[in-house]
Formats: sequence, structure tokens, C-alpha cells
Amino acid sequence: MVMRGDEQPTETHASRLDQLTMVLDESWLAIHTVSVRHALRLLATGAARGVVPESNETLDFDRWMELEVAAHEHAIRSVRKSVRIPEVIVLTRYRGVPLRTPSFSRRNLMRRDRHQCQYCGVKPGTHELSIDHVMPRSRGGRSTWENCVLACRRCNRKKRNRTPHQAGMLLLKEPRAPRWSPFVEVPRTHIRPSWERFVDAKVWQSAVAS
Ligand SMILES: [Zn+2]
Repeated sequence: MVMRGDEQPTETHASRLDQLTMVLDESWLAIHTVSVRHALRLLATGAARGVVPESNETLDFDRWMELEVAAHEHAIRSVRKSVRIPEVIVLTRYRGVPLRTPSFSRRNLMRRDRHQCQYCGVKPGTHELSIDHVMPRSRGGRSTWENCVLACRRCNRKKRNRTPHQAGMLLLKEPRAPRWSPFVEVPRTHIRPSWERFVDAKVWQSAVAS
């Protein structure tokens, strides 16, 4: 894409290329999201085709570049050419296994446990919550989805290096790996309405609500 000095690409180009595109596997299952920049590269190499949201038609790179771009549509615009932003792409050949369990991290744990102490149920805010190892680390408990929960300071102090049973505490629910969702690492503000019909209704609801 050629850019000339008389354009004002500052906000548009850089930030639009950093927005997100949903990636579907060959069976049209949403598997994850990539930056628009990466999506265009996948189109260019033939690894994926762009999905036209209105028609579900899939287009290869050349045809995608020829797509008419209406004024209201999200596009990467330059003087010579406007390219419609691919909001959804479908892989033409899928290599590799999709990540089915979100990576174990403090941020994802916050999401799974909905910022709530899993012993007493308070929601004191992110900074007041710590990661509690249900089976304490000193007894070989590991940092896994199944052995970690959020706990408030008070519950943390109370439980100390004991199991919930020993401490006489009850977990609100048994900790499990969260259900995989293509949105797990995606901030809500980056979610596009056009993605909704490619994902399970439950997954969609929790994504737009979280
Ligand atoms: Zn608590």
C-alpha cells in the first residue's frame, strides 16, 4: 500500500492494523484472534481466505483487495486504495492444534473466578486478591487451574499453609480449567459484533459481559 504525505494516517493505519480479526478453522469453528496485520499476511500467503460478513462468501487475497469499500465500513485507507478490514478469516489449511485451554495466568485466573474470593465470595478488587494454592505449595501443590483459586487477604491469612479441609474452609466451587474461548485473551472493547454468529451463544455472552 502506498502512502503519501497528504494523508493523515496517524490514528487510522497503525491502530486499525493492530485491531483484531477472528480466525476460523476449516470447519468454521472460531479458534482464536490475530491482529488485522497478521490476518492480511495470512490472506496474502494463501493460508486463509477473508469472510465477507454479509454473505459468508470467502475471498482469496486478490479478490479481497478488489472488494468495494463503502464509506461506513472499517477500512485501511490510502490515497490509491482502500482495503476492507477482514473481521473474520477462515484458514484454508490448518496446521497445528488450537489451544484449547487458556494459559494459566493471574489475569486469566481473575477472569475465571470473576474477581471473587473463592472462599468467602467478596469482590474486594484486583489488588486485594491473591492466588491461593488449594493444596499448598509446601505440600507439593502445583500452580495449575485445578489447584489455584483467588482468595482475599482475610481468607488467605486464615487458611495459611493448610488445605481447605484442615482450615475448615469451603470453596465456592471446585476449581477447573476454564472453558476455552476464542475471546479469552481479548479485551471486551476489541470484540466485533460480526463475530457473534461464529461462536457458541454462551461463550459470546460471557465474552461481552466479562
Ligand atoms: Zn475471602
